[in-house]
Amino acid sequence: MNRKRFLKTSVLAGIGSQLQLSSELIAFFNSTAIDVENLLGLSQSHLKSESILLEAETYEAFMSMKSAALKAGIDLKIASAYRSFERQKTIWEWKFNQLTETKSPAEAISEIITYSSIPGTSRHHWGTDIDLIDDSVQAPEGDLLLEHHYHGEAAFSNLKTWMDEHSRAFGFELVYTQDENRTGFKYEPWHYSYQPKAKSLLSLQSKHNFRKAWDNLEFEGKSHMTDSFMDAYFKSYGWGINPSLMPS
Ligand SMILES: [Zn+2]
Repeated sequence: MNRKRFLKTSVLAGIGSQLQLSSELIAFFNSTAIDVENLLGLSQSHLKSESILLEAETYEAFMSMKSAALKAGIDLKIASAYRSFERQKTIWEWKFNQLTETKSPAEAISEIITYSSIPGTSRHHWGTDIDLIDDSVQAPEGDLLLEHHYHGEAAFSNLKTWMDEHSRAFGFELVYTQDENRTGFKYEPWHYSYQPKAKSLLSLQSKHNFRKAWDNLEFEGKSHMTDSFMDAYFKSYGWGINPSLMPS
């Protein structure tokens, strides 16, 4: 049991035996408070469980969407959900070390952020974002998360058509759309986000304490990221998303 859940259970048991809990108090203890550590990928306390790597509400919504899709013959399978800071750091540093053999650190960074987030800033830390494939079809050889697998007659084009029509009804939105005016990461037809939760997490990411905590993280290449570079990165990449996922 994680610390937050332990505290919640033990505090509730203690209070509940002595008095009738008000509905507000119950709601307070049941709210899954997500803080900076969760957003940075340093804590998993916001996830459904240790084996279900999705934020709790996102998981419920995903399961409803999965059963609806199954009726249409599409088996939504998560290729990637929550990713920890450590995992993102490993991916990042592997790319950074490869690229800096022939390029400057600045060039390497700008190339990596075509597709990969800077560690601590990934939406995959949030537990609300998922990369989807269709498990009802024969998977293509090699890398599955490629644009051409999701269009035309390709393996995952039925998934894409179904998601275009139905995902919104379950709260899921494509993040990195094909809109030519969008800045930031390239088009990702596989990456969806649970809007009711993710919207508020994005606004938490814009808060001062998030940025202060991010400044304390350590990974290769970070010393080349100035404050103004990070300001521009959050604006162009963090907010370069489907407008329906922007905090209102
Ligand atoms: Zn993704």
